[in-house]
Amino acid sequence: MTVGASDQSLHQMTLAELGDGLRAGDFSALELTTALLDRIAAHGEALNAFITVTADEAMRAAEAADAARSNGNAGPLNGLPVVHKDLFCTAGVKTSCGSRMLDNFVSPYDATVVAKLRQAGAVSLGKTNMDEFAMGSSNETSYYGPVKNPWDHEYSPGGSSGGSAAAVAARLVPGATGTDTGGSIRQPASLTGTVGLKPTYGRVSRYGMVAFASSLDQAGVITRSAADAALLLGVMAGFDERDSTSVDHPVPDYVVGLDQPLEGLRVGIVRQHFDEGLEEQCGARVREALALLEEQGASLVEVDLPNLDLSVPTYYVVAPAECSSNLSRFDGVRFGHRASDPDDLLDLYCRSRGEGFGDEVQRRVMTGTYVLSAGYYDAYYLKAQKVRQLISQDFKNAFASVDVIAGPTAPTPAFRLGEKTDDPITMYLNDIYTIGANLAGLPGISVPCGFSADLPVGLQLVGPHFAEQTILRCAHQYQTLTDWHCRCPEAYQ
Ligand code: GLN
Repeated sequence: MTVGASDQSLHQMTLAELGDGLRAGDFSALELTTALLDRIAAHGEALNAFITVTADEAMRAAEAADAARSNGNAGPLNGLPVVHKDLFCTAGVKTSCGSRMLDNFVSPYDATVVAKLRQAGAVSLGKTNMDEFAMGSSNETSYYGPVKNPWDHEYSPGGSSGGSAAAVAARLVPGATGTDTGGSIRQPASLTGTVGLKPTYGRVSRYGMVAFASSLDQAGVITRSAADAALLLGVMAGFDERDSTSVDHPVPDYVVGLDQPLEGLRVGIVRQHFDEGLEEQCGARVREALALLEEQGASLVEVDLPNLDLSVPTYYVVAPAECSSNLSRFDGVRFGHRASDPDDLLDLYCRSRGEGFGDEVQRRVMTGTYVLSAGYYDAYYLKAQKVRQLISQDFKNAFASVDVIAGPTAPTPAFRLGEKTDDPITMYLNDIYTIGANLAGLPGISVPCGFSADLPVGLQLVGPHFAEQTILRCAHQYQTLTDWHCRCPEAYQ
């Protein structure tokens, strides 16, 4: 069979380029799927990026996509390969959430995100590794073992969507879904040199996403370009009557406005972002990126987020509180792991949960139960809710004078696997720049903006509610002048 573009180059192409190639008939969805499944077979195991590869289903979906194209029924993503973080329910395919608790769970239905991408013609190649129940910043809490960073296998890809980020960075797939509760899309994107978009809370349905902290969780994407993130968001976004927190707000065409120049855009620089916690080279790369935005016609305006330093402690009250409630459903009775030979009901509960959940999840459940308990509720949970309001108000005040806020995504580049596992607080500080957007429900994107030594650095852009178009446009314009997002780890070219 003749393939217009060689297999070698198919994996280097973005979703937009692959879409053009498929439309032009340069290659078929089946050829593309085969090429990427081969790459996953060759590299997936070393990276430990996948929990499940759905090769047979993918081949069938690719054949169906090719048939749909020849019948004139091609959807907007027809034949384009994607993978899903393993907390999106997928009918008939294991959804483990990175946990022993759900190691045996096969969902009877698709998450809305999965269904929408499928209906648009996308071909799912499998489910990606992640921190257990999305709790973590390094992918080391996964029951299936840590994911390796494609830039250096000794390093973490970040988390919790580390499998999705590593798969995209290593060119195993051009696009992946992820979820972001405190930074789990943007931080791994930053640490792997990929693009990570967390939409506004409510923009994308959470139906069929295993819940961690429901008031913070939001589905988004990891891709190699902002244009590809726009393409996927357009399909995923929208009201869903099965998710009462999804918002009935029109879905614009996220791709059309991307070419609009940055002339007149007001970019907020947060004074507190450049404190001593930021690694020097990361700070330097972000400053260079800001200078480039200015050259493109944006004006840089200093803004304050005075309560930024409270965002991590606030998050680590609110998120565990919600997780302790959400995870109470895993009791060994209805579904999930069940301890064998229990003495009585209490023993069944205790051992099923003790065996099924890893250390970090247990730590969060205990913290969450504590902050919600009578006597401590006012001192912790209620206080955290009040501080959350202050943080939201800080963003509101800042957005009175700027259109986007730009700064670092993470305080450091990728760190060594094992380096922070014994020190939860240092691990938690990874999300110091990302958590604010979750607490306030705002959209944020991370784009590669250079390197610290040999490891990628991310620039974060945060916008007001539903300003995905603005941050995507800003990211895209930055990518028209830079090629950081085209850099590929040597072993994966
Ligand atoms: N790293 C943060 C945590 O451990 C955020 C996780 C996430 O966004 N899912 O909770």
